[in-house]
Amino acid sequence: MMVLMGADATPEQVDDVMAQIVAQRLQALRLPGDEHIAIGVASAIPPEQRDSLYQLLSSLPGVDHVVHISRPYKLASREFHRVDTVVNVKGVEIGGTRCVVMAGPCSIESREQLFATATVVKAAGAKVLRGGAYKPRTSPYAFQGLGVEGLKLLKEVGDALGILTVTEVMAPEDVPAVAAYADILQIGARNMQNYPLLIAAGRSGHPTLLKRGPSASLDEFLLASEYLLHHGTQAVMLCERGVHPLDRTYTRNTLDLNAVPALKQITHLPVIVDPSHGTGVARYVPAMARAGLAAGADGLIIEVHPSPKTALSDGAQSLTPEQFATTMEELRRIAAALDRSL
Ligand code: PEP
Ligand code: MN
Repeated sequence: MMVLMGADATPEQVDDVMAQIVAQRLQALRLPGDEHIAIGVASAIPPEQRDSLYQLLSSLPGVDHVVHISRPYKLASREFHRVDTVVNVKGVEIGGTRCVVMAGPCSIESREQLFATATVVKAAGAKVLRGGAYKPRTSPYAFQGLGVEGLKLLKEVGDALGILTVTEVMAPEDVPAVAAYADILQIGARNMQNYPLLIAAGRSGHPTLLKRGPSASLDEFLLASEYLLHHGTQAVMLCERGVHPLDRTYTRNTLDLNAVPALKQITHLPVIVDPSHGTGVARYVPAMARAGLAAGADGLIIEVHPSPKTALSDGAQSLTPEQFATTMEELRRIAAALDRSL
């Protein structure tokens, strides 16, 4: 943290700022400049002291402004953890050289639907089966998922086919049940800042895929991931799934692909791209899936349904099994061009 004094700050005001920093048991460093004096806080500031210190110093007489030098998320940032985190879920590595594709229906509708989808996505090379049992929907009157019945089907199909599973958890009290049935917890975009849910998921220690809120800045996204790490899970994956669009005429969201290289620079956590929710339109999904990998994502999460027209949720953005298989072939070529594999 750095305090920039105003050009007309008096020596007493400078001394007072130095004294206030020292009173917080931190080291203050005076940095004289041509016109302004700057004062650096030379020791590591405990995260819980960061905001209050910023407010205190900003309010002192003679202070022009205060700037943060280090990032507010110590655990998620590369500042203190330079190497990439590779999340290992039962032998499948996410965040390494191999790109991981998670695929399946938006919602689990029946055993037949899930089994059929899982069979085709696995054959095409997906390493994780997705499927929602608890569905946050735009309208509360829409299908909200099969609940525990859906979780049981997910585990049954995952075990039968030998494919990992990921599913959304919406309530803190559901975390133990969802963690018992699924290999990876998904925290949905609408719940990115649901702190009780982040605490429960973090404490479970279960691998967690955190989706970015549609209006969340990258700092807010990373602070939410920090909360998961802080509460005990090391296996955190970030998912860019599109932000609120300027224009909804043609797409549901705007997939923020800038976020991919930016996140890869700032954080060591794996980054997954969701081109299904990112576009909301099946015919745009293959292009944005390819673009996601090209931008540096460690994996993708893609909605696939055996019969998108009759899907109970997100049919318009779901690929058919054939479209998914073709897309996987294209993705293999993109991965190879990046010296990665699928
Ligand atoms: C989903 O994955 O089906 C979902 C609801 O995603 P999001 O939280 O990104 O809207
Ligand atoms: Mn969906």
